[in-house]
Amino acid sequence: MDKTAEYLQRFMNGVKKRSPGEDEFHQAVSEVAATIFPYIADKPIYHKMQILERMAEPDRVIMFRVPWTDDKGNIRNQRGYRVQFNNSIGPYKGGLRFHPSVNLSVLKFLGFEQTFKNSLTGLPMGGAKGGSDFNPKGKSDIEVMRFCQSFMTELYRHIGEDTDVPAGDIGVGAREIGFLFGQYKRIENRFVGVLTGKGMEFGGSKIRTEATGYGTVYFMENMLERKGNSIEGKTVCISGSGNVASYAVEKVNHLGGKVVTLSDSSGFIHDPEGISPDKLAYLIDLKQVRRGRIKQFADEYNSATFQEGRPWNVPCDIALPCATQNEINEEEALTLLRNGCIGVSEGANMPTELEGIHAFQNAKILYAPSKAANAGGVAVSGLEMSQNSARITWSEEELEKLLKDTMRTIHDSCVEFGERKDHVDYLAGANIAGFVKVADAMLSFGHT
Ligand code: NDP
Repeated sequence: MDKTAEYLQRFMNGVKKRSPGEDEFHQAVSEVAATIFPYIADKPIYHKMQILERMAEPDRVIMFRVPWTDDKGNIRNQRGYRVQFNNSIGPYKGGLRFHPSVNLSVLKFLGFEQTFKNSLTGLPMGGAKGGSDFNPKGKSDIEVMRFCQSFMTELYRHIGEDTDVPAGDIGVGAREIGFLFGQYKRIENRFVGVLTGKGMEFGGSKIRTEATGYGTVYFMENMLERKGNSIEGKTVCISGSGNVASYAVEKVNHLGGKVVTLSDSSGFIHDPEGISPDKLAYLIDLKQVRRGRIKQFADEYNSATFQEGRPWNVPCDIALPCATQNEINEEEALTLLRNGCIGVSEGANMPTELEGIHAFQNAKILYAPSKAANAGGVAVSGLEMSQNSARITWSEEELEKLLKDTMRTIHDSCVEFGERKDHVDYLAGANIAGFVKVADAMLSFGHT
């Protein structure tokens, strides 16, 4: 074993010993460390100052009880979290996730990734993540409101416009952000930009809802363009049917591609005719307003069929996983490759298992890791913070241009740090580009 591999193994043993059983967190850290150790091999200052070791430990973890009352008068009890991972380059920033699968391991992996992602945007934002094992599915609006108010009654003391600015994520959309912001304002008696993803009436930013999905597609277009190719005429498989998936469909349509799949946790639909703008409008109403299931899409349109499972055996040129973590395993990655897939851009966080990533990398297809490909959302959140501080509103055109430019800059940084003899390693490029800024800030602070 060479010296770098030995360091890596010793480092990962330490991480696993300190945080036993946190599989998703171990997965995220080892994926990053495998690319950072070779980069810092000839840079002893990072070793001496234990930079990666310190980056792999959150600044603090806040865990709290969230009691709430359901419509039948039963008292229910959930667990709330905020993982404040690293604020070396700006206030903590990262989403809140409400989903039954939420636990400390999932939020630590997301907070760790967020630190690198936020650094990549070039904006002054640190990394954090939070949420709860509360499941908004099937709950009435009033139940969701009671839960959000109880959650914020504890969270408010840990956040602030210059301290920590949460946003949405899975299960936390415009409705939840409204309830959370309302409760913060009520407790603190201050109207400040303490959350992003707000409604337009109370300090939200244009394009924020669309930004993650649009950005994921822009990143793919940037990778293709570099190879003299484009999305036009390509067949695209998308997973998920929430915020990120919906606006990825819209941008693929704008750029002349055809999306043939969508999914949720019950299964996927395959529509060989493509998700046209009118079908997309139906989908957004179905998922965001009526909170229905993806199967209903196939009931509505004869061209679509519903199946259980995930969509990766449907032949496509491009895959955009936009649902959740670990939704492409090695076998599915190999199926995508066998069917001729030439590019993967990750809208969801860590959707590809490590073995699947290796399959994409070995095949040298265009593979964009989530921390780069889905950074458009947090970039526009950063712009929402700027608009709130300056009490101004930028136009849709200005913001879409800023989003497009940001995705181009992130792409180019990945190329700068990831260019190899005959291909670009976007994973290494994103990790190293994200690492350098945070690491150098930490060096300036000394032993903190
Ligand atoms: P939404 O809640 O709007 O949608 C999530 C979608 O993923 C739904 O279709 C949901 O299906 C599906 N899903 C969730 N969990 C699972 C699961 N275990 N198995 C299969 N499908 C699942 O969330 P977003 O669109 O906002 O987020 C999607 C992904 O993008 C997440 O990984 C998130 O972290 C990431 N992301 C989001 C950003 C944003 O701006 N919103 C920013 C950056 C990353 P169902 O309805 O059945 O639950």
